[in-house]
Amino acid sequence: MGGPNALQSRDRLYEPVSRLMAWEDWERLYADDIEAILRLKQERNAVILAHNYQTPEIFHCVADIRGDSLALARDAQNLDADVIVMAGVHFMAETAKLMNPDKTVLIPDERAGCSLAESITAEDVRKMKERYPGVPVVTYVNSTADVKAETDVCCTSGNAKRVVESLNVPRVIMIPDEFLAQNIQNETGIEMLTWPGHCEVHERFTPQEIRQYRRMHPDVTVIAHPECPPEVVAEADYSGSTANMIDYVATQKPEKVLLVTECSMSDNLATLNPETEFVRPCNLCPHMKRITLAGIRRALENMETPVTIPSALEAPARAAVERMLAI
Ligand code: SF4
Repeated sequence: MGGPNALQSRDRLYEPVSRLMAWEDWERLYADDIEAILRLKQERNAVILAHNYQTPEIFHCVADIRGDSLALARDAQNLDADVIVMAGVHFMAETAKLMNPDKTVLIPDERAGCSLAESITAEDVRKMKERYPGVPVVTYVNSTADVKAETDVCCTSGNAKRVVESLNVPRVIMIPDEFLAQNIQNETGIEMLTWPGHCEVHERFTPQEIRQYRRMHPDVTVIAHPECPPEVVAEADYSGSTANMIDYVATQKPEKVLLVTECSMSDNLATLNPETEFVRPCNLCPHMKRITLAGIRRALENMETPVTIPSALEAPARAAVERMLAI
């Protein structure tokens, strides 16, 4: 957990990262912001939610809850806080607001978008539903509230298989991530009607790159995120969401691992699993990296920028998320 204890335990948490940069440099760069954020959290009765792709100084030094987008929104419901700061991208802040309508949800940088969420509009979904009447719509949580509002049920990369199978139908409209849909089709045999949306981080990985890493590190365990193209997932030893990756490394304790996902995930996991060596390809999400300690500090100082959801979208979008939680 973040909060005051985060500073006390910073040396242990930063050990692997400190090989890249001396701790004194981190401290000089960030101490003012960290101290100010911890103070502001108390004054505002605020919590900070940090996605697994946030950089270590956010993830380990100021965050109260860490995880994937759904875990962040769900766990925040149980907190006694007036304000939530989302150290993640805009659709995550929207989902947090959907699940916590009475709390003020702040996004430190409104430009923190997502190539997947921005690939599709509510009008696109309505057209797909007209084209395939009666076919259920499963929408990845990496989507805007107006797209969720057109949806039968949401899913995450961790529960997509379970959600799709629970529908008990031969085919499903699965949006907006084409690769996630194809990977789930390969796992379940259920036909997926897809949308050509891609995560700009995961689409860049190639099978050739994975083979090259295996040649360089014959003993490496390869774990691929299901937002990767199916031919990349086929090269992996295991495929799973960021939460699944965390569990896999913690329980299987591979000696050497390659996480085929956003770069900060390895930095954050390395601090928690010092016995595992992380091979680090580095595909950064430019949207996640718009969130900085200085931005979080400004957000708390000025209460910027609150996330709002049009009232007509609230109930149907929340219902799609809640149906997923029920499954
Ligand atoms: S990593 Fe990919 S899916 Fe996640 S926010 Fe960035 S672009 Fe979107």
